[in-house]
Amino acid sequence: MNFRALLNGKVEFDDSEEYLEFRFRLLNAVMLTGIFFSALFVAIDLAGINSLGYRQLVATEINCAASVALFLTLRDHKKRFLPVAALFVAVNFLTFLSALVFALADELRVIWFFVCVISVYILLGVRAGIGVTLLTIVCIVFANRLIDAPFSGNAMTTLLISLSTMSVISCAYTLRTLSFFDRMRATTIKLRELAEKDPLTGVYNQRAYYQVTHKMISLAQRNGKPYSLLFIDLDHFKAINDGYGHEIGDAVLRNVANTLVTQLRQSDVLGRIGGEEFSIFLPDTPLIGATALAEKLRKEIAQHSHRLDDSQSIHVTVSIGVAGHRLADRSIADIQRRADRFMYQAKRQGRNQTVAESDPLGQSANDEQIDASTLQ
Ligand code: GH3
Ligand code: MG
Ligand code: MG
Repeated sequence: MNFRALLNGKVEFDDSEEYLEFRFRLLNAVMLTGIFFSALFVAIDLAGINSLGYRQLVATEINCAASVALFLTLRDHKKRFLPVAALFVAVNFLTFLSALVFALADELRVIWFFVCVISVYILLGVRAGIGVTLLTIVCIVFANRLIDAPFSGNAMTTLLISLSTMSVISCAYTLRTLSFFDRMRATTIKLRELAEKDPLTGVYNQRAYYQVTHKMISLAQRNGKPYSLLFIDLDHFKAINDGYGHEIGDAVLRNVANTLVTQLRQSDVLGRIGGEEFSIFLPDTPLIGATALAEKLRKEIAQHSHRLDDSQSIHVTVSIGVAGHRLADRSIADIQRRADRFMYQAKRQGRNQTVAESDPLGQSANDEQIDASTLQ
């Protein structure tokens, strides 16, 4: 097992969880370190090399056992991060408090609270950091009145001022880090959109469309599920560009894409794979359902008018080829090629129509009707 696997277990983090991943790994690292050193302190005491005193020995043993339990609880469960982090901080705070009161032979024991405050800022955030700082100050001031060998006035002043200063620095640094991670997340989302989306219509570009649908085909083949593909090409689109200009042509393309998006299911995948060509992958959809949808889309687009101004509007039509799944499909290119053929058949037969392939699996009772038929 490598060190990374030891710190993360089987947990996976997506791009939007960088800060959680960092804190998750840090907590695991801190817990492992805590377990190691508390076990070492106990071993040194039991070996008679250095005594912690009976009460602090018990506190350290409890700390070690609780840390092991929390480490195992967090294993493979990223959702448990916050409660485990909060409990780990609480266990350690109590151990440090116990050391403050009972381990009088250690003059530097208050340094543990500094470690605790910094860890809380990173693991639990700014509010928890401020809260633990105030709690630490109250506990130190109160405990100093109880212990047999209290810190001097000067030592207390140094302690409290340095603790407060360190808390302010940790607070500023945590806020800055959080805003950095927020900006990084926003940039990642933007970059992914730029890489995947067609800038004109906002649907998947060709590369992303093929990438997404390729995975969906493999999954469907493995699960024995049907799928279909529609290939849509605008009719006489060159004439629109030539007659009204490229900008109007762009606006029409955007409108057509919007019309398609509003008619599709969330699970359907739409891509602009050429200038005025769209491809739609329909998971869990047999040929007959896909053909019906293609007809619905064709009619919807033909009825839609693209307004230029109050007096003028443009109508566009589309030709659609529909292909269904085949066991022999190795990639999206296979089914896309078949849909291409049927789309060109629709063009040859006069445009503004849907042509579906024959159904090799006999999914429909109306095969005769759909079989490479022209639907208008
Ligand atoms: P057909 O019915 O046979 O499909 O005729 P068509 O004119 O649509 O087909 P053709 O392939 O000859 O022309 C496609 C046109 O689409 C050519 C080009 O001017 C236009 N086009 C391609 N990409 C864009 C784009 O991003 N914006 C605009 N406005 N036009 C585009
Ligand atoms: Mg074309
Ligand atoms: Mg065309």
